[in-house]
Amino acid sequence: GLALAMVVTACGSSTKTVDQAASSSAAPGDALVGVTMPTKSSERWIHDGDNVKGALEKLGYKVDLQYAENDIPTQVNQIENQITRGAKLLIIASIDGTALTTQLQEAADKKIPVIAYDRLIRNSPNVDYYATFDNFKVGVQQATSLLVGLGLKKEDGSDGDAKGPFNIEVFAGSPDDNNATFFFNGAMETLKPYIDKGTLVVKSGQVDFKTVAILRWDPATAQKRMEDVLTKTYSGGDAKVQGVLSPYDGLSIGILSALKSNGYGTADQPYPVVTGQDAEAASVKSIIAGEQYSTIYKDTRQLADVTVKMADAVLKGAKPEVNNTTDYDNGSKVVPSYLLDPVIVYKDNYKQLLVDSGYYTEDQLK
Ligand code: BGC
Repeated sequence: GLALAMVVTACGSSTKTVDQAASSSAAPGDALVGVTMPTKSSERWIHDGDNVKGALEKLGYKVDLQYAENDIPTQVNQIENQITRGAKLLIIASIDGTALTTQLQEAADKKIPVIAYDRLIRNSPNVDYYATFDNFKVGVQQATSLLVGLGLKKEDGSDGDAKGPFNIEVFAGSPDDNNATFFFNGAMETLKPYIDKGTLVVKSGQVDFKTVAILRWDPATAQKRMEDVLTKTYSGGDAKVQGVLSPYDGLSIGILSALKSNGYGTADQPYPVVTGQDAEAASVKSIIAGEQYSTIYKDTRQLADVTVKMADAVLKGAKPEVNNTTDYDNGSKVVPSYLLDPVIVYKDNYKQLLVDSGYYTEDQLK
């Protein structure tokens, strides 16, 4: 009983002992939830962390929220620390999805459930649930917006009037992030028929994932690769790059600055169509200014919401809602997942999608 679990202190207030709090499954009480996010260097993760923490606290949980600045050992320590501190559940957005097997085993040994947040944790049976966006669809949308920007498709999905051929270059995200492969596969499957017909030409010839992947999603690395490609493939002749598949807004910013220092972004030589992801404020501003062409909006409020509902259900011994039990095999098991819907943002719909929904104020985009 609950009454027995109460410790009445001298001044009359009551508090639970650690053990009794642990075994109480009816009420969350003040159970500690450990939340680990990859980095503060990208705005989206700051929103994610704030949203998850806020929603958990509203339900009465205590939250330890940690960021690791993309350093794997730091994240490993943070998770170990949370386990030591008696966390009752872990929510993890991993840096390297393959690096947490030992920590997850420790968690499992202590019956601490684990929810993978946005990025799947691989090679471990000890991932209980996964909350994310439909990552393959993100890639399809990135490629679709590239086709729309080039005039090969219209926003309504019908064929566009342009004929090509167009020179494009493609980038992928961090190879240790399971999402990066999903984005890239979704995008390349969408571009393939155009590449096969010669309508799109990847002029550098660099098309395989390993060659075009950008470790840790680092903008400077993407800038450097774009510069190298421009030097090797596009200097000396008339050929220009007309489209760039970029999987993340931070990379798009690096890519655009490489283009700028190579003479793009003028009336005579406009920027190519550059895609993105996350609808980060800097990139939405760039879209409004006519530089970046598109981004993918993944409402981090929704993701936090779904994740916190999952966590709450698990902590109360109930079954959380999932909507996908087939797509996310982590190498050890298929992790029951909840997938949210991403949306393409263009200059002509950003207001409706991002401002009217309250994701940003108009002022934040000035
Ligand atoms: C996320 C993307 C993000 C990228 C870089 C991915 O795992 O799903 O939204 O752009 O990491 O932070």
